[in-house]
Amino acid sequence: MPRQFFVGGNFKMNGSAETIKKIIEHINDAEKDPKTEVVIAPPALYLLLAREHLKAPLEIAAQNVFDKPNGAFTGEISVDQLKDANITWTLLGHSERRVVLQEDDAFVASKTKAALDGGIGVIFCCGESLEQRENNDTVKVVTSQLKAVKEKVSDWSKIVVAYEPIWAIGTGKVASTEQAQEVHKAIREWLKNEVSEKAAEETRIIYGGSVSEKNCKDLCKQPDIDGFLVGGASLKPAFVDIINSHL
Ligand code: PGA
Repeated sequence: MPRQFFVGGNFKMNGSAETIKKIIEHINDAEKDPKTEVVIAPPALYLLLAREHLKAPLEIAAQNVFDKPNGAFTGEISVDQLKDANITWTLLGHSERRVVLQEDDAFVASKTKAALDGGIGVIFCCGESLEQRENNDTVKVVTSQLKAVKEKVSDWSKIVVAYEPIWAIGTGKVASTEQAQEVHKAIREWLKNEVSEKAAEETRIIYGGSVSEKNCKDLCKQPDIDGFLVGGASLKPAFVDIINSHL
């Protein structure tokens, strides 16, 4: 079975009730490739608003979730609370959280396990810094981020892997199609060798980092690129063009 094309929109800490509602209405009303699975990730404060307005089959992701059950964890949101709000996905391991909030591989993996155990799908972000790329450590960094997940999780069927080179995020510097394909292929090989042939065949590996309506068409032709995680452009009408990359 071919892997279903997947496009995520990561709104990050952007938008207001008014602008998010407008973005959602635009996505609802646009003509979209029915073959693309679309998931948007608004800030936590607007998850319920998004749930109220977004039309099926579009889905919603949180940008983060905690790895402990409900309790005394000020400022955090639990897997049960996401489920209560009918939120079916979460992003985890975004480089902005790994770098700015110092989340390490083990913590991200623990949250991944908690989300999956609770039945929430995970868009698991991984990627290298410019320095790591220049030192030829890209595959080593990405696979060690994945290995932390493998140590805690055996079923990869509800994980989408988002490869996001840090140097390409929000910079306008998109990875070339060759650079992206090379890493996606390496991730698929890692899945084959370390998880299973089935996981390698079925896991969507999506690219993120300055994806736009201009570069999506070339990137999506690569054999191991199964979609995109879109930041800045997900707030714009161009997001629909990215959903429709294959049309
Ligand atoms: P960008 O962000 O598209 O604005 O580069 C991507 C991301 O951080 O997920």
